[in-house]
Amino acid sequence: MAQIGIVGAGVAGLAAGRALTRAGHLVTIVEKSRGVGGRVATRRVAGFSIDHGAQMVKAPSAELLELVHETGSAYDLTAPVWIVDGAGRVISGDPAMNSEPKWVWPGGNTALAKHLAAGLSLRLETTVVAIGPTGTGYELIDAEDTRIGPFDALLLTAPAPQSAGIIAASDLDANDRAALLAALQPVHYRPCLSLALAYPQRPEPPWYALVNLDRNHAISWLACEHAKPGRAPAGHGLMLAQMSPAWSQANWDLLAKGTYTPGATFPAPAAEVHALVCALLDMDLGQPLWVDAHRWRYALADAAYDATLSSGRAGIFLAGDMEYGQGRVHLAITSGWAAARRISAALAG
Ligand SMILES: Cc1cc2nc3c(=O)[nH]c(=O)nc-3n(C[C@H](O)[C@H](O)[C@H](O)COP(=O)(O)OP(=O)(O)OC[C@H]3O[C@@H](n4cnc5c(N)ncnc54)[C@H](O)[C@@H]3O)c2cc1C
Repeated sequence: MAQIGIVGAGVAGLAAGRALTRAGHLVTIVEKSRGVGGRVATRRVAGFSIDHGAQMVKAPSAELLELVHETGSAYDLTAPVWIVDGAGRVISGDPAMNSEPKWVWPGGNTALAKHLAAGLSLRLETTVVAIGPTGTGYELIDAEDTRIGPFDALLLTAPAPQSAGIIAASDLDANDRAALLAALQPVHYRPCLSLALAYPQRPEPPWYALVNLDRNHAISWLACEHAKPGRAPAGHGLMLAQMSPAWSQANWDLLAKGTYTPGATFPAPAAEVHALVCALLDMDLGQPLWVDAHRWRYALADAAYDATLSSGRAGIFLAGDMEYGQGRVHLAITSGWAAARRISAALAG
């Protein structure tokens, strides 16, 4: 039985932690936030539930589908995703893509992360800043200089720039540190401002969501969140707009995380998004009740890390959606499971 430290309680870290615990290891997951899920994030505002991060989950393998069903509450959102082009024209989506189940959870997609976290040993609200070698393994060092461990192996699942920050600050062998940093270096993320807009009426278009594939529209993704169970009070609408990288970058400092109500201090970018939402729906929705903003600096990975350098160099493993260079929940879980297999094999060997 080995002691394994995992940084990050997103779905990759949780999936790895669960698999390693089942393989008989003692696992501690250290997470900087107050809750689990990472970019699978649900926020509650005034009786509404907002999935500011992952909107829906695909399960293209038997193992993933088993996990989805194991949660006991997964719901297949059958309403389709349509396409919006750069000029704001709405066209119906790809029938093949729309025939795949889109899994969501009543009241919020964090239910999936909470299911993965059940029974695991978690240290929340603890930011790891460095790794300390112990001679036979490692400790994790947090922002208060508390040492957590010792561990025989480590798994880093924070987005690449954050994992790289931890490695750069660590007293590791210079070659190991350079190799791990080089593995993470190719991964870049698109930023995303996510805006939830609540309305006292419920738009019912023929689509659940619109996606902008040519990346020329300010809104990359617009979803009728009230189509999901348990997201909005009866008769109310909840629209979620995830903004393009360019728009997000341009408006980053104008829209801090928080809830805004229309009035004198209503930020201009929130009013702009409300107008864009009405235009795409071709409806006058009146004023929103409020707009809730969330900023994702590391939203979606654009490139993968160098896997040849990342399979457990000196007992330090990497996992997360950055393994595939694509922001998808099922890929992050798959990466967590694969890391757990690599760690078990390395410890056995
Ligand atoms: C706006 C948006 C929309 C998306 N939509 C979808 C979608 O519809 N479908 C889909 O499949 N995917 C979607 N994704 C992508 C999906 O959410 C991610 O690919 C997936 O959740 C990544 O999981 P992860 O565990 O690899 O990383 P994360 O979820 O980022 O987990 C990493 C964890 O590490 C923690 N951490 C970071 N630094 C430290 C530190 N120093 N110390 C301790 N903890 C630390 C973080 O707080 C976080 O909890 C979306 C993502 C975003 C942002």
